[in-house]
Amino acid sequence: MDRTTPCWRYAIAIGSNRRGRHGAPRAEVRAAIGALGGTVAVSPIIETAPIGPSIRRFANACILLDSAEPPDALLARLKRIERAFGRRRGRRWGERVIDLDIVLWSGGAWSSPALTIPHRLFRDRDFVLRPLATIAPAWRDPVTGRTIRQLAHMVDPRRRSP
Ligand code: ATP
Ligand code: CA
Ligand code: CA
Repeated sequence: MDRTTPCWRYAIAIGSNRRGRHGAPRAEVRAAIGALGGTVAVSPIIETAPIGPSIRRFANACILLDSAEPPDALLARLKRIERAFGRRRGRRWGERVIDLDIVLWSGGAWSSPALTIPHRLFRDRDFVLRPLATIAPAWRDPVTGRTIRQLAHMVDPRRRSP
C-alpha cells in the first residue's frame, strides 16, 4: 500500500457455533480469517463448551486487519463472506456458521444506519474482550476512554448471553 492510500486498522470479532463446509466451529473461524486477508494479528481461538445437550459449542477469536476500505464497505464485504460461509439471514443470536462484527476501527466512533462502531455490546462480552486483549491490550475505546485490557478485567466472565 502506498502512502497516498488511506489505511485503517480494524478490530474484528469472529464467532461460530455451527459446523459448515470447513468443519467444526474452530475450523470455520480459521477459514474466515483466511478469507478476510489483510490480517496483522490473530488472537487465540477460545472455545465455550456446550452447557447442555441442545446448546452448541462456540468458537470465538479477534483479529486486527489493515484495510483501505471505509467502514460501510468493510461491513458489506464481511456480509458477503458470511453468506459465502452459508450463513442464513434473519437469525440474530441464533446458530451461525460464521459471524463477523466490527468492534473498533482506528477512525474512532462511527455511525451509519447499518453500522455502529464501536460495536454497541462489546464491553459486556468476555468472548470478545478476552481474545482482543491478547492482541490489542492498549487500544482505547473512544467512547469510555478505557483500554481493552481494562474492559477485559471489568467484564463478568460467567456471562454467556449474547
Ligand atoms: P450482535 O450485534 O448482538 O453481535 P449479531 O451479530 O448476531 O448480534 P447480526 O444479525 O449479525 O447480529 O447483525 C445485525 C446487523 O447489525 C447487521 O446487519 C449490521 O448492519 C448491524 N451492525 C451494526 N453495527 C455493527 C458492527 N459494529 N459490526 C457488524 N454489524 C453491525
Ligand atoms: Ca455478533
Ligand atoms: Ca454480526
